[in-house]
Amino acid sequence: MAAIDGLPPLREVIASHGLSAKKSLGQNFLLDLNLTARIARAAGDLSGMDVLEVGPGPGGLTRGLLAEGARRVLAVEKDSRCLPALAEIAAAYPGRLEVISGDALEVDALAHLRPPIAICANLPYNVGTELLVRWLTPRDWPPVWSTLTLMFQREVAERIVAQPGSKAYGRLALLVQWRCEARIVLSLPPEAFTPPPKVSSAVVHLKALPEPRFPADAAVLERLVAAAFNQRRKMLRAALKGLAPDIEARLEAAGIAPTERAEQVSLEQFCRLARELAR
Ligand code: SAM
Repeated sequence: MAAIDGLPPLREVIASHGLSAKKSLGQNFLLDLNLTARIARAAGDLSGMDVLEVGPGPGGLTRGLLAEGARRVLAVEKDSRCLPALAEIAAAYPGRLEVISGDALEVDALAHLRPPIAICANLPYNVGTELLVRWLTPRDWPPVWSTLTLMFQREVAERIVAQPGSKAYGRLALLVQWRCEARIVLSLPPEAFTPPPKVSSAVVHLKALPEPRFPADAAVLERLVAAAFNQRRKMLRAALKGLAPDIEARLEAAGIAPTERAEQVSLEQFCRLARELAR
């Protein structure tokens, strides 16, 4: 069946450009254009937005983003074998798709875009968390991007939206939820990809809040949360003793029992403790 954009089906694109998947680049492709359109729609209304996509591969999601009306898509792809296929998409959407051939960890792609900016990607699993952490820790808040719509392994998606008391709760949940609204919007079984990965995946949608939910210094909060979850089974007075000699008193001042474990402490409590530590 012909696709709505008049371009060939993705199986044909892959065959004609010899895009056999490389494991080293985390290549698990989405070949169902209905599915890539759903992911693009999960990013919200894209009309009037610049979109950054990392790892377009043969371009399934890229086509979804363009068909859903993105003003402009900038796609960063490390595998130069994909460039001819992406050039065909650029030709079908004149002036709306630009491709940077390179490593997303090394290119400052956001500097090429004009707000409002959405970031949407089926991320290579080996660099996904690192990119997320970079997007979440810009020098100033709010960041230049408005939303992140990202595919992760299910286990990582669960760590992003985790609540206190659960095993998945930790640094990533706190880093995200301090300054973003986060939810899982789509779950996908391994068979949705070619080749299928070993685990299930999920798409997470993050919206940047205009300001943090609770006041705290970003560097102090990061250091505190890292120390707390580094030894997550220890009581906080032991896990955090390197941060301040009078840590018990500061925990109490923040309304946290010194015998509590990191897993049970809410975002609001961590922020209160970060303020106590910054005094
Ligand atoms: N977006 C395509 C899709 O949904 O079918 C492909 C997704 S595949 C999971 C990840 C893509 O990221 C691959 O095309 C891979 O070549 C690319 N990639 C891997 N590491 C990268 C990096 N450091 N910078 C940019 N692209 C990268």
